[in-house]
Amino acid sequence: MRSRIISNVPLSRQHSTTLNTTRSRTLINPWAVGSVLSFGALVSYYFFSPDPSRGAPTSKHEKLSPSHFTPCTITSSEPCGPNARLITLTVPTKFLPASTEKRFSAIWSVFVKDDDIQVERPYTPLEGVDAEGRMRFWIKKYPHGEVSRWLHSKRVGDEVEIRGPMQTWLWQDDSTWNEVVMLSGGTGFAPFYQLFHDIISQGVSPETRFTLIHSSRSPSELPPSSIMSALHSFASGNPARFRFRVFVDELELDATGEKEDKLQLHVGRINKDALMSSIQEENSSSSWRIWPFKKSDNSHNLRKTLFLVCGPEPMIATLSGPYGRNFSQGPVGGVLKELGATSEQVYKF
Ligand SMILES: Cc1cc2nc3c(=O)[nH]c(=O)nc-3n(C[C@H](O)[C@H](O)[C@H](O)COP(=O)(O)OP(=O)(O)OC[C@H]3O[C@@H](n4cnc5c(N)ncnc54)[C@H](O)[C@@H]3O)c2cc1C
Repeated sequence: MRSRIISNVPLSRQHSTTLNTTRSRTLINPWAVGSVLSFGALVSYYFFSPDPSRGAPTSKHEKLSPSHFTPCTITSSEPCGPNARLITLTVPTKFLPASTEKRFSAIWSVFVKDDDIQVERPYTPLEGVDAEGRMRFWIKKYPHGEVSRWLHSKRVGDEVEIRGPMQTWLWQDDSTWNEVVMLSGGTGFAPFYQLFHDIISQGVSPETRFTLIHSSRSPSELPPSSIMSALHSFASGNPARFRFRVFVDELELDATGEKEDKLQLHVGRINKDALMSSIQEENSSSSWRIWPFKKSDNSHNLRKTLFLVCGPEPMIATLSGPYGRNFSQGPVGGVLKELGATSEQVYKF
């Protein structure tokens, strides 16, 4: 999952980096150099920032919108795995758009602003927003990550500002795709769970079949167990609609010293074999047995399959080829290319 604003080093940081650099050069007036470099940093920031809404104001009167920040409150924050938390942000209902407005169509995210350093990052509410204005996020903390560490340090009752919704990708309720295969790694799971919550489990596009193949490093780093159970249970009750496969790099020892494998886990990385076997696995419906790209006498049997990929960049690159320049998708590569998927059939988050 590539954050489009990750490269936006906060201005305060650019400034302090500049000053540190100039202090070590005694022959040059440090303040002059600092001013020039700071001005350069400002100009670069202004012209090359990929986020057109930078410096968005805060509004305490208007509805939630991408064009300004809205204050909301942290109403829950619970650990969920070694480096992750489930954090609920609640936006006052007066800021929610009227229910008739279709502004929250899967898949969407919001920017959260770190007030300390004035930098924002996007996060995906797992179940969208409810009528009370609650949004629940599964957020991983990175050792040197600015906003994720800041969010993890916040307590229930603290105020944070968000802006959005930002449309990450839009599900089209038409007959374009017969099958959708979602490949996620780590918190790249969040957008697909939102799609599950809003589209798959709601019976939208009933002719489309979905497969979610998720991977985490270890069982303790998997998404929240209540969500995992809900997905397994929906998959077993609706095998023709939804399939769910979970991979971990390795199992962990449980309290008895046994390797833990209680969640039908596959050990290893998602690779070509894993992908093909996940999709080709026995299924009560004979149509599932036809691999989308397999040559067939009857061309109508070839499925219209879409692949959605969301996770760390190395995983994206292995499965679907790296992103292109300037935030473009880049050509299809990796495993999906080997399988014959075209660029129309692959979307990298
Ligand atoms: C549309 C979208 C939706 C998203 N949804 C979610 C979500 O639901 N949940 C979620 O957890 N994430 C989500 N993300 C990712 C999120 O936006 C952030 O990118 C993530 O939280 C990291 O931000 P950060 O500010 O903490 O890290 P950054 O400061 O941006 O750092 C990013 C990486 O660089 C490393 N790094 C930083 N400084 C240094 C240094 N000095 N030396 C070495 N390494 C360094 C960090 O350790 C980290 O690995 C989403 C991204 C997108 C694009």
